[in-house]
Amino acid sequence: EDAQDQMEQANQDSNKVNNSSRILVFVRLRPMAKKEKEAGSRCCIRIVNRKDIYLTEFASSGNDYLRLKRLRGRHFTFDAAFPDSTTQQEVYSKTTAELVEGVLQGRNGSVFCYGATGAGKTYTMLGTVENPGVMVLAIKDLFTMMRQRSYDGNHAVHLSYLEVYNETVRDLLSPGRPLVLREDKQGIVAAGLTQYRAYSTDEVMSLLQQGNQNRTTEPTRVNETSSRSHAILQVVAEYQVRDSAMSLVNRVGKLSLIDLAGSERALATDQRTLRSIEGANINRSLLALSSCINALVEGKKHIPYRNSKLTQLLKDSLGGTCNTVMIANISPSNLSFGETQNTLHWADRAKQIRTKACEVNEERFQVPVLDLDQSKLLLELQKEN
Ligand code: ADP
Ligand code: MG
Repeated sequence: EDAQDQMEQANQDSNKVNNSSRILVFVRLRPMAKKEKEAGSRCCIRIVNRKDIYLTEFASSGNDYLRLKRLRGRHFTFDAAFPDSTTQQEVYSKTTAELVEGVLQGRNGSVFCYGATGAGKTYTMLGTVENPGVMVLAIKDLFTMMRQRSYDGNHAVHLSYLEVYNETVRDLLSPGRPLVLREDKQGIVAAGLTQYRAYSTDEVMSLLQQGNQNRTTEPTRVNETSSRSHAILQVVAEYQVRDSAMSLVNRVGKLSLIDLAGSERALATDQRTLRSIEGANINRSLLALSSCINALVEGKKHIPYRNSKLTQLLKDSLGGTCNTVMIANISPSNLSFGETQNTLHWADRAKQIRTKACEVNEERFQVPVLDLDQSKLLLELQKEN
């Protein structure tokens, strides 16, 4: 184990030398659902050492004997694997708290949840009023720390919540016409997207729940939120601090939290025309995501971000100057074996992505900070002139 620690340390050091970092990949196992129990599921996931996952295929769940034998006991290892007893707070602390600290230093960060429909993505990201998820806990942390650190209480949090459905981008906080993506200095932005200024954590949960209700629902499954919609929450945190030379520094950091559409194959959905068009488009976005991941892993010069709306919006998160975390959600049931295997495969692949060194967004004021009375005096002097 010592040797492994040393190797990990060496890897981390070489990352520093190369001035790049890698995507951190976590896996969260959810508890067995009642429905799954009733269907006679067996648990096919075993988590060991808080980072190793053993995936077992049971002979009864398939009919290709050779394939079963080969796949039996497949092993994956991640930055951490969370058993089904892990609390929302633990998931937040281990996956996202560090990114939030980075955001306060002016470094952009992004977290995305990947997995099949029903695997626990929305629970992890949004959660419930009793058990709020990563989105809410991150904003809570941002508020607390900015209140403590900001100069003269100068801080602001702005939220935007958008959806990519069927290659169309929509504002979830102010539903209406589809939004157009534009390229500007900061990268790709959705023109006209609502920037909602939040003043407390309390209002955030209900705002996001409302936003989630605006996610496109499938006509055939009215009571469920869509499994084909990608939701992206962007949190911009801006505040002023004094640096060691007592000048005022304006820090801006952006945190993107992404609840991806279900990763199950389009084959598993029904084949009616509309559905299959939508399926094809979801495939386009997730397919584009997987091609980008492949191209990044292989160190290709050209990364095909332009192939879908989702990858255009995630460009900065995947290959840009940003700290990125991926959370793969899985069910314990052997009935979801294929989906789980697929999810773990992509999660394993994502571990190899190297991102560029993170830049710091900050603006330094030339004048040193004066105390309040002095600055009033200065203002008055300026007025007189
Ligand atoms: P997804 O967004 O991936 O389709 P959901 O987050 O909606 O899946 O989860 C499906 C169901 O499982 C929901 O009823 C959710 O409350 C429940 N669930 C998911 N993860 C957990 C968890 N870690 N603990 C308890 N319940 C969970
Ligand atoms: Mg969901």
